[in-house]
Amino acid sequence: MDIPLKCHCGLLRGVARDIRPSGGNRLTCMCDTCQAYAHHLGRADTILDLYGGTDIFQMTPRQLTFTESIEHLRCLQLEGRGVLRWYAGCCNTPVANTVSSARVPFVGVPHTFMDHAGHGRTREEDLGPILARTMGEYGIGELPADAYYSAPMRIMLRSLWLLFLAWLKGQHQPSPFFDADTGKPILEPELVYKEKQI
Ligand SMILES: [Zn+2]
Ligand SMILES: [Zn+2]
Repeated sequence: MDIPLKCHCGLLRGVARDIRPSGGNRLTCMCDTCQAYAHHLGRADTILDLYGGTDIFQMTPRQLTFTESIEHLRCLQLEGRGVLRWYAGCCNTPVANTVSSARVPFVGVPHTFMDHAGHGRTREEDLGPILARTMGEYGIGELPADAYYSAPMRIMLRSLWLLFLAWLKGQHQPSPFFDADTGKPILEPELVYKEKQI
């Protein structure tokens, strides 16, 4: 199934192809950096759920294609390390998270960029239920019973297994985020540092 992708304002668009609930992980991440990112973009109200979680679906780079206004794509990295966070600069909509290596066949696409209504379906119909609420260590308020302090082993193993299968099939490319020749990100990530709080 193909799922339309679009930023909040509708300028940056794309499509996620051949998506099946069994082919990825749908989870929420409540970690401090995902929350800091949402606040940095000034869109925490639309990105984060009640518990400070971001609803993300894991797919492979070759499944994601941009179709309109890629010039609005931006990239940043919090604290100068870790995950590359790609977003639409036109309206500060989170678009995707990747690791910094082009060789890893992983893209986490947040709910904010997936336009389920655009093809007349719901997120549950497209992706199935949330498999786990992870990183509850940083969660806000009283967490639901299915929240985990970090991440359950079954999800980590499932994630590694999906990565392994994708690696076997060479699904790290083509990637819309990395240059096929150099393996470098197509944009130099903006490095964002937390202001020291007293
Ligand atoms: Zn936009
Ligand atoms: Zn996170």
